[in-house]
Amino acid sequence: MNPVFAALKTTVFTEMSALAQRHAAVNLGQGFPDSEGPRDVREAASRAILDGSNQYPPMQGLPVLRQAISAHYRRFHGVELDPDREVLVTAGATEAISAAILALVAPGDEVVMLQPLYDSYLPMVRLAGGVPRFITLQPPHWDLTDEALATIGPQTRVVILNSPLNPGAVVYSRDQLTRLAERCIRHDVLVIADEVWEHITFDGRTHTPLIALPGMRERTVKIGSAGKIFSLTGWKVGWACAAPALTAAIAKAHQFLTFTVAPGTQAAVAYGLGKDDGYFADMRTGYARSRDRLAAGLTAEGFALLPSEGTYFLNIDLPGSGIDLDDRSFCLRAVEEAGVAAIPVSAFYEENPVTRIVRLCFAKKDETLDAGIERLAKAKRLFG
Ligand code: GLN
Repeated sequence: MNPVFAALKTTVFTEMSALAQRHAAVNLGQGFPDSEGPRDVREAASRAILDGSNQYPPMQGLPVLRQAISAHYRRFHGVELDPDREVLVTAGATEAISAAILALVAPGDEVVMLQPLYDSYLPMVRLAGGVPRFITLQPPHWDLTDEALATIGPQTRVVILNSPLNPGAVVYSRDQLTRLAERCIRHDVLVIADEVWEHITFDGRTHTPLIALPGMRERTVKIGSAGKIFSLTGWKVGWACAAPALTAAIAKAHQFLTFTVAPGTQAAVAYGLGKDDGYFADMRTGYARSRDRLAAGLTAEGFALLPSEGTYFLNIDLPGSGIDLDDRSFCLRAVEEAGVAAIPVSAFYEENPVTRIVRLCFAKKDETLDAGIERLAKAKRLFG
């Protein structure tokens, strides 16, 4: 077996969802909505499957979807992307990330990742033969400080950034991202920007796409996800957008990872990306309402919470909440003894982990959130 995979455990999301099922727990762990997504988008998929072609679509993605992605980013971010040479449709953002890493990292290249880091990045960097280096961000704001960014230097080839940040729930300001961009430009670094949470931002905050910052157009791979935009995480339709030479390189990896993506879902996502601004605004308002409901319930129960500016996630500070357990022990006991699943944030660190924060997913129906609050309150009574 390849040593990269031999050394790995099952992902924490799969582990916690399996435990939630075994203990019939309320699952606030793995990040997925417990709703079915917009009906019109699902109907578009069903029409495309019944009436359209179900044979191999083009390797780069259906032209109608690549055009829709390009039009969507022009509308929301003022970014111009050539749908034929700068957009590649992938099997979810995870495949886009893997293809980008495999294509752009050569053996021996230094790759800087920011901790907390999404779990798929590091194994793929290792598989590509990259040399990982970490920038460790600290709660509660997970700021991109100059001190942290100093890790990016002349020896760095690629930076992998998640913005907005899972699990930190930060929507990085233009100012912070500009500082990161300046270092990348100075040291001629490529950036793989995992921006799957770009639409899930709250309280009037807007996402700044890294590719739109001065000097970043030619060195950024922007990764997006229909699963997150339309609350359809099971569809696994994502994309990578970058300058033609980068996109062509990523397509070479993609053609042997999945080759292409189911055409019916691609057609439906093309339809969905064209929905009016109201859809995207309502989605944000709905998630903000759920965040506030969970936050209010937990605050009333005496939990200390970190700010949540975007993503599906709200974090609990364990010591601040009077709980004297590390995050993983808390999560393992909470699912078994209190019937609620959550994600330990230490799982997002490869070294020097932060072990006092627990991540909750609030993309849930009110009754799920209310049951979660009740069970977290029980956990606090048991372990507090
Ligand atoms: N993105 C999801 C999360 O952060 C997990 C997806 C997965 O299970 N691979 O919870």
